[in-house]
Amino acid sequence: MTTLTRADWEQRAQQLNIEGRAFIHGEYRPAVSGATFECLSPVDGRLLATVASCDLADAEAAVADARATFDSGVWSRLAPVARKAIMLRFADLIEQHGEELALLETLDMGKPISDSYGIDVSGSARAIRWNAEAIDKIYDEVAATAHDELGLVTREPVGVVAAIVPWNFPLMMASWKLGPALATGNSVILKPSEKSPLTAIRIAQLAIDAGIPAGVLNVLPGYGHTVGKALALHMDVDTLVFTGSTKIAKQLMIYAGESNMKRVWLEAGGKSPNIVFADAPDLKAAAEAAAGAIAFNQGEVCTAGSRLLVENSIKAQFVPLVVEAIKTWKPGNPLDPATNVGALVDTTQMNNVLSYIQAGHDDGATLVAGGKRVLEETGGTYVEPTIFDGVNNAMRIAKEEIFGPVLSVIGFDSAEEAVAIANDTIYGLAAAVWTSNLSKAHLTAKALRAGSVWVNQYDGGDMTAPFGGFKQSGNGRDKSLHAFDKYTELKSTWIKL
Ligand code: NAD
Repeated sequence: MTTLTRADWEQRAQQLNIEGRAFIHGEYRPAVSGATFECLSPVDGRLLATVASCDLADAEAAVADARATFDSGVWSRLAPVARKAIMLRFADLIEQHGEELALLETLDMGKPISDSYGIDVSGSARAIRWNAEAIDKIYDEVAATAHDELGLVTREPVGVVAAIVPWNFPLMMASWKLGPALATGNSVILKPSEKSPLTAIRIAQLAIDAGIPAGVLNVLPGYGHTVGKALALHMDVDTLVFTGSTKIAKQLMIYAGESNMKRVWLEAGGKSPNIVFADAPDLKAAAEAAAGAIAFNQGEVCTAGSRLLVENSIKAQFVPLVVEAIKTWKPGNPLDPATNVGALVDTTQMNNVLSYIQAGHDDGATLVAGGKRVLEETGGTYVEPTIFDGVNNAMRIAKEEIFGPVLSVIGFDSAEEAVAIANDTIYGLAAAVWTSNLSKAHLTAKALRAGSVWVNQYDGGDMTAPFGGFKQSGNGRDKSLHAFDKYTELKSTWIKL
């Protein structure tokens, strides 16, 4: 819990001493080229920091250092129980610096401070801690062999991992990768989004303070097409883990094929259906969840419930409930603890969202809530949570990931039709079903081609459950013990006795 007021946060923002350099082998350093880029706040357009703009030369240095550190065994050969103890300290330090990290996150990408502190920072510490706690409780296998043989099936760290992450949950997406990658003994190079590099840069020092050896976690801020591409094409990166758009995810697979066939694990985009049947147990609760599913984090959520599928027999009753519920999601200054909708990450993203709102009008959908940029006088990038009714699944606002607070409402008449519309997308990240009929809930959940399905709620889950996508939403899974698969190679050692 934090009891800081908006004035407190504003004051702390003035006092922040923001680090913008890259971090290699335990120390901050400028990009080899000396290049920097400006990190602007979407809250009000203020200049936050100049940040190192890394490129190929920095990637070379970071990968060489990560490889040498891995080969030295200083982390990779440490007993799991020892790695656990250090990572638990790392999680503690993230929590102890929670207010500072939350402030950096909010200033950098515009999300409400209450969420940065209560969701992102605490979720990040939890991700590190959960993986740390798991690592000394996992056993390898002994194969079923003949009497005079011994077959060992063991897991080894892959080696050098590059983690390229997005801007919508900068610290948390990084932590979902760092937790299992570090716990299993790898060396990691973290490449945060150029739109939100500050928390990644900050936690590099916290890792050192916790006792993670230098070179185990290097952080390279910079653009995707420069340093991101250099890491993805690097011949000495063993595994590339990514969260971001489907477009870039596909490009990374090409880079892997063009280079060393590094393993590529992708968490990509979504266009998630939220299906409300007429027999939903509580229509008001379903409407409130539908509003939250598109307004939370300004709709900049890979699992945003951006397609609301409503059974036609209740649609006239249900849509006004959603319109009412979305009024409680109001854009405001994200440093105010009462704000629940902050600024979109930058002007480019805001204009993208506004162009989709225009596409909704152009394609004949009916605007029933929001639809405008607001708080322009602040210098920030704020857009009202927006609802279009009368959408069909072929319209652009129903097909393409907007990654902003724009909801498309689509009617249906039967469970079969609902599932057909829900699955009629290139994505398969998440879906939800609202019904009080147990069989309908299970049958619909089974029929949905998505990595997460929620019943009578939206966005449930925790570190114990895998998270990831079917189809073009990605491959592999973050969270849960299954995530360890991405960071380990299986080895069979066969011994003649
Ligand atoms: P993005 O794909 O534009 O960028 C993601 C990262 O890739 C950034 O660090 C960027 O610098 C880097 N990058 C860009 N071009 C690159 C290149 N050519 N080579 C190497 N790296 C490159 O995505 P974004 O706009 O930062 O994030 C939004 C997207 O992330 C949405 O599509 C959203 O659905 C997705 N996302 C998915 C999940 C999930 O778990 N499935 C979670 C959060 C966000």
